[in-house]
Amino acid sequence: MTQSGGAQPSKVSKTPEKLYDGYVFDLDGTIYLGDELLPGAKRLVLKLRELDRRVVFLSNNPTKDPRMYAEKLTKLGLETPAGEIVNTVVTMTQWLIQNHPDATVFPIAEEPLKNALREAGINTSEEPEEIDIVIASYDRGFDYRKLQIAFDAIWFHERAMLVTTNPDRYCPFPGGRGEPDAAAIVGAIEGCTGAKCEVNVGKPDPIMLKTIMELMGLDAKDCVMTGDRLYTEIRMALDAGMPSAVVLTGETKAEDLEGESEDNLPDYVLGRIDYLIPANLRREFGWGDA
Ligand SMILES: [Mg+2]
Repeated sequence: MTQSGGAQPSKVSKTPEKLYDGYVFDLDGTIYLGDELLPGAKRLVLKLRELDRRVVFLSNNPTKDPRMYAEKLTKLGLETPAGEIVNTVVTMTQWLIQNHPDATVFPIAEEPLKNALREAGINTSEEPEEIDIVIASYDRGFDYRKLQIAFDAIWFHERAMLVTTNPDRYCPFPGGRGEPDAAAIVGAIEGCTGAKCEVNVGKPDPIMLKTIMELMGLDAKDCVMTGDRLYTEIRMALDAGMPSAVVLTGETKAEDLEGESEDNLPDYVLGRIDYLIPANLRREFGWGDA
């Protein structure tokens, strides 16, 4: 589908010359598109695991738990343990453990996040006078009662801080529709309290990558973040000091890179995702032209 793996095809193509210790991947547009793995994704991930590199897949969606993503990847033909998935359920729980282990939180959230908080031993409460942190999340069970609790904790008792799992305004569905995401809940709470959301643990905030680095025990500079969007994954990697690669199989097209300022550009540009493996190794593995 693209030109040879040896000679790099276009002036915007730039591929790594070394292996990294850790590989962090966006999912949609990077590993799969809809219900199909993208070309080269499977052999790349299998090879990285074989070479003992850490592999992590990211998602901003807090309405699923990592096991659900692991099942999806496995069903698509890439068998994956839940431990390789980090979504905002994981980063929110981890951020609380690292920064506010004794806080009492009110999660406006669906079951996966509530379960994770419970399993991590985080205190939760619906009593406004006890709440230190209100977590605004993607919650399809959001209602006036929950808004009142958040309002009382933040505005009336003047004690709670507002944080969010992810800054997405809506979650896109196939066919162009979508549904309101966490930003809708943040907006409702900000609107009535005048408070500002202080922390976001999802893309593009570098907190997400920093949390993952701590979880994996790796340095940002020893990993590479690969995604299909400049303003989410690549922005986050640039802000976290992590090398990054944009793959042109999703949202970003080669021509989008032409007018971008250097400050927004990743280290690497890949026509397909298995170009993350250095060319000499691809030849050694007999991968030949892609
Ligand atoms: Mg994507």
